[in-house]
Amino acid sequence: MTSGESISSVGKRRIAVMTSGGDSQGMNGVVRAVVRMSIHMNCDAYAVLEGYEGLVLGGNSIKRMYWDDVRDYLSRGGTLIGTKRCMAFYERSGRLKAAKNLVLKGINALVICGGDGSLTGADRFRSEWPSLLEELVQTQQLSPEQVEPYRHLNICGLLGSIDNDMSGTDATIGCYSSLERICEMVDAVDDTATSHMRAFVIEVMGRNCGWLALMASIATGADYVFIPEKPPGQDWPEEMCEIVTSHRQFGKRRTIIIISEGAQDTQLEKITADQVVKVLTEQLHLDTRRTVLGHIQRGGLPSFYDRWLSTLQGVEAVKAVLEATPQTPTPVITVRENKILRSDLQECVRLTKSAAKAIQARDWNAAMKLRDAEFKEYFDSYKLTTSPESTRLRIPQEHRVRIAIIHVGAPAAGMNPATRAAVAYCLSRGHTPIAIHNGFPGLLRHHDTKPIGSVREIKWIDVEDWANEGGSELGTNRGLPSEDMAKTAHCFEVHRLEALFIIGGFEAFASASQIRNNRDKYPSLRIPLIVLPATISNNVPGTEYSLGSDTCLNTLVGFCDAIRQSASASRRRVFVVETQGGYSGYLATMTGLAIGALAAYTPDDGIDLHTLTRDIDFIRKSFQNDQGASRAGKIILRNERASQIYTTQVVADVITAEGRGRFDARAAVPGHYQQGGRPSPIDRIRAFKLAIKCIQFLEDTFAGKSADEINSNPLNATIIGIQGSEVVFSPMGSDYGLEATQTDWGARLPRNQAWRPVRGIIDILSGRPEDKE
Ligand code: ADP
Repeated sequence: MTSGESISSVGKRRIAVMTSGGDSQGMNGVVRAVVRMSIHMNCDAYAVLEGYEGLVLGGNSIKRMYWDDVRDYLSRGGTLIGTKRCMAFYERSGRLKAAKNLVLKGINALVICGGDGSLTGADRFRSEWPSLLEELVQTQQLSPEQVEPYRHLNICGLLGSIDNDMSGTDATIGCYSSLERICEMVDAVDDTATSHMRAFVIEVMGRNCGWLALMASIATGADYVFIPEKPPGQDWPEEMCEIVTSHRQFGKRRTIIIISEGAQDTQLEKITADQVVKVLTEQLHLDTRRTVLGHIQRGGLPSFYDRWLSTLQGVEAVKAVLEATPQTPTPVITVRENKILRSDLQECVRLTKSAAKAIQARDWNAAMKLRDAEFKEYFDSYKLTTSPESTRLRIPQEHRVRIAIIHVGAPAAGMNPATRAAVAYCLSRGHTPIAIHNGFPGLLRHHDTKPIGSVREIKWIDVEDWANEGGSELGTNRGLPSEDMAKTAHCFEVHRLEALFIIGGFEAFASASQIRNNRDKYPSLRIPLIVLPATISNNVPGTEYSLGSDTCLNTLVGFCDAIRQSASASRRRVFVVETQGGYSGYLATMTGLAIGALAAYTPDDGIDLHTLTRDIDFIRKSFQNDQGASRAGKIILRNERASQIYTTQVVADVITAEGRGRFDARAAVPGHYQQGGRPSPIDRIRAFKLAIKCIQFLEDTFAGKSADEINSNPLNATIIGIQGSEVVFSPMGSDYGLEATQTDWGARLPRNQAWRPVRGIIDILSGRPEDKE
């Protein structure tokens, strides 16, 4: 291998990848993406083993990596190239050795995936680099000619940490997998707590960052949370007991308190889980238990999101180091909503340090702001949903609205948590939330009844335990208002609806469109309409993300991992996995990206003989290269509408026939299993955030406005969506609205599907040959 290395490497750039600090799920995805993307870009790939320790040691610790070395990395937890705390790197002498090793190995660029400490180290290394080279020359360890090509240290940071403690990004690689572990545990504890009417105090990790604790509280509907950035005063026992007591009085059977390991009060006095247990036991006489989740939070498989993030960020890191010049600031790859961005490493480290300093200086406002743009908003909204009785935030009577909530279309995980959040928010502001059960057919069935039947005011306790419930508790239906528009309008009138919040997929969008288009005829329909997209297919115009799609992708990723493993005994098997999604190739593509599929067949590209022949050739070659390597099966994703002729079974049969005994294929159809069980943490948190934003939008834009003002505002029928790095409200009507410009009504798709470029990355990282035709 070494002799081949020197020959093949002449003139090629060398890119090394390293994982450092605490391990996190998704780090292996980074290594895979950096190694394969580097090779794809005609560079040599290296891995630095055991973090900075390997950099300081040099020699075999900086290892050449080949395409097959990272096979199966995507689905593995922790980091397979190792990580260690390295004391030597804190010293200049250690960093000097590291610099020498990089030059000797001819490494042109270094991608470092780690947390706050690791990137602080990287930033320090970068700033010292010229003086380190100078010293190496002066002490005659290296000659001026040797260091000359390496004058500029080309570094790129990737944020890998379960704590999500870095400023300047929405998420670090690993934080959502860790949150998933926490939510699984809290959901489990929740069941037993409810049975025995117990209280549980659950301690979660995060060092001095409260992100895991706050998000876990939102995602599980905890009663109270302790985080270091927004500590309670020393009277916290009274505040907590008051909230817990009010929840119990509402009829809640269990109490969950989540405490971050860095919890403290405003005087920086540590608050421990034991203290909280003592207060609940002694003051409220609750049967209270303590659970410390510990290292479980670091374990387990990476979730869909972390596979997606690590892969796309790894690819972006390679692009960044190849495009860097001595003038470009050292980048760190971040994410904002759905968009992968390049930020300034130095700035990111500086902001993160300021957050820690703000906590020490007890400047809580600054600490909250420095976490990330929305941390404070999440905290405030969470507080508000746990105190629905508080009159503090009530708006004037004349601005209060009767807001109806309806679920439309197939059930999707996230519908219940979204409803829960909307109801809690409405109540805290003084609005009247009204539930319409069983969609529009439910509404029509009870058109002549008083506010009973399927249209009822909804109370906090009705929805309180929906934070982690999958499906649709309100009942959802595909039926559209057009089934009887006159009756729909009559129902709006009878129930005195003043705004409608529609949660659902393409049918939700279509319903809003129908109502909007009948406003001329029926005055009762002239109320603000807002759609929150919720469908596993993720095919609603105006958004790149729909509630439920993340849960579905996690389910599909788990399904593919399991069947792939089942082939490890039988050898040389391809699974053709059929995904739902109608004409949207989103699920097939994203699952393909997250499991490292050979290919993803979508309706846009279709399937033809040419594609099959090319892919069977590719399968043949990859099995040939497999010798002795992992025998796990290989996977092709096929969307249910990718082709009428080449069905999932036909594709599998063709592959088997062409395998001629050397390999075979099986069709696997997960069907409705894809809708998943409980919502994923991402779906729960986004449901919470987006639902509250919807009600706030209704309130800010329309509360207290006259009929004319409502009628003339193009946002009187709107849809909330994530577009790139932003949450956006788009108008449905008007010449420039979504219905006219962005909707393919026949295929039930948005015209512009932002995820499409990802298809190229799947092919690059699986090594699928380019289609030269
Ligand atoms: P994390 O990256 O998860 O925050 P650590 O804080 O343990 O983990 O940092 C990982 C490694 O990064 C340390 O063992 C050390 O080698 C290096 N490192 C951290 N901080 C610095 C620093 N200020 N200067 C130089 N190296 C550092």
